[in-house]
Amino acid sequence: MFVEDQDDLTLIDPSFLSQLPVLENYLLDIGYDIKNVKRIILTHVHVDHSQAANEVKRKSGAKIYSHWIEARYLGQNPPYLGPPSTQETVKKLEKIGVSMGALIKEYGSLDFEPIGVDEQVSNGDMIGSLKVIHTPGHTPGHISLYYEKDELLLGADSIYKHVFGAEGMYISAPQVSIDPVTAIVSAQRLSKVNFDKLLMAHQDSPLLEGAREAVETLVAESIQKLKR
Ligand SMILES: [Zn+2]
Repeated sequence: MFVEDQDDLTLIDPSFLSQLPVLENYLLDIGYDIKNVKRIILTHVHVDHSQAANEVKRKSGAKIYSHWIEARYLGQNPPYLGPPSTQETVKKLEKIGVSMGALIKEYGSLDFEPIGVDEQVSNGDMIGSLKVIHTPGHTPGHISLYYEKDELLLGADSIYKHVFGAEGMYISAPQVSIDPVTAIVSAQRLSKVNFDKLLMAHQDSPLLEGAREAVETLVAESIQKLKR
């Protein structure tokens, strides 16, 4: 959640429908309402990031934003076939303790209805105070977001730390990426951005400080590994 103003919120990646009550309660707890959401930014098409977008839009009237490439897949024209496939996603979620049985019982499946994107963006565009950085690799139209004022980078699924059983920090891996080598190039692009704090989508610690240098090192190591 990114706060522009008291009644002007930007929601980044609304996650699963089943998580929506959690989000709504959180908003009430911090003095907002789902109706204050004016923009929904989808960093990419994956269901664990985008499934609740239509419902949040229905409740708030917010506009949905995504990269123009991802807008095609969100609209399922053409459908996005992974990786990961639905089956792989189920396995991944079970591994991190999310009960798919309960999710599927309540919502039918991991599928989502087509999502109509209201505003298609490209690299360098601004969405409110957030600058769009196109970081393909995890998916073709994956974006990261940069808030210059706080030197904060929202990396979404471009980089992970200590998740899915892996040690340390790593760039989006082959099991979840359409093009893992391009994901390294995108991380290299991010390492040139003047940020200090990094917030990743799946991670053990909420915010990583001194992060630009860490990403730079990670990129160098990842390129070395490719050469071996
Ligand atoms: Zn993803």
